[in-house]
Amino acid sequence: DVPAAGSSVYAEIDLAAIRSNTRLLMERAAPAQLMAVVKADAYSHGATQIAPVLEQEGVAAFAVARPTEGVELREAGITTRILVLGAPLPGDLPVCAHHDLDVTVSSLEVAERVRDYARVQPLRVHLKVDTGMSRLGVSPEDVSDVYRTLQKERRVTVGGVWTHFATADAPGHPLTATQRERFDALRRELDLPLSFHTDNTGALLTGDGTLPSPEGPASQTYPSYVRTGIAVYGLAPTSELSSGEVASKLRPALALRARVTHLHTIDAGTSVSYGATWTADRPTRIATLGAGYADGYPRLGSGSARVRIGDELRPVVGTICMDMCMVDLGPPDSPLARRVEVGNAATLFGPDGPTIYDVARWARTIPYEICCGLSRRVPRIYT
Ligand code: PLP
Repeated sequence: DVPAAGSSVYAEIDLAAIRSNTRLLMERAAPAQLMAVVKADAYSHGATQIAPVLEQEGVAAFAVARPTEGVELREAGITTRILVLGAPLPGDLPVCAHHDLDVTVSSLEVAERVRDYARVQPLRVHLKVDTGMSRLGVSPEDVSDVYRTLQKERRVTVGGVWTHFATADAPGHPLTATQRERFDALRRELDLPLSFHTDNTGALLTGDGTLPSPEGPASQTYPSYVRTGIAVYGLAPTSELSSGEVASKLRPALALRARVTHLHTIDAGTSVSYGATWTADRPTRIATLGAGYADGYPRLGSGSARVRIGDELRPVVGTICMDMCMVDLGPPDSPLARRVEVGNAATLFGPDGPTIYDVARWARTIPYEICCGLSRRVPRIYT
């Protein structure tokens, strides 16, 4: 009974870790509720597997990037509220209405379209305010206008108003404070009984967002949600933030493993892989692993990456290929080289290391991209 038989690479996903993270985040967010961000297939963890677990744990809402992601959840039986974070294109409104997905109103033009479409079918919306990210949203000065436009059709329900921080993963960044102040001012000015929400994982971990500090007044009901994605999966946005008080209790849920598909010994002076960028300076035992950049193991990690094999951290040598990469096991008579056999699993990243932060550093990117980059052909095994 070989896990993922037929595939030399697989991702192990620990659902107990997801449950534990969710409970921790719900506790930290209270009295705000948890809106779990499950876009991009739950950051590659498998949205239709993860969302039912989160629903059982009692999350208040889900967020996705696109309507199709919401439809996938509805078809999997998810009944909890789902907010689509992206700006809706005209064809999206019927899809959202039909599947009971909350629409993000990101401009006056979208508000007018929503108002007109709601005459056909009722819609529920959240208004997105651009307080400084300059990606999506209505400027704070235009919010009242947009709100009035939506109010013209009684079949439009405005559920909330939200904004998104551009620098929440950098503790003390002045832009977060500016965005928070702009949003607070708007919330006071609107003075409406709506859900106001801002915080992502970074804001929750740094305390720079709008969530009251744990010592703050328990009666404060703003924000109404925290929108956390990466923390649900047990990660912080950066390795620097991973050692904080809350983050250190998170449990990374995903491990990427690849099996040894071939072993051979090369002489000193023999190069390995495309471009011949690495050459052995001694007789070397090489393990070829069946994982490559088409699985989401980034080619940019070539030259720096390490894997855990036989309980040792060993370097990946030469260029990472589409479906394979090669590991230096040391001299052929070393204990490790003698021990490793075809079929053994190596850890490319996982809770025991290398960590996803390591892989992101080697590939000069962020943990999000490593997570989301896992491709469809990698079987997910839930434990
Ligand atoms: N809110 C919005 C609008 C987002 O785009 C995202 C993710 O990028 C999140 C919340 C969740 O962010 P994080 O995964 O850092 O918690």
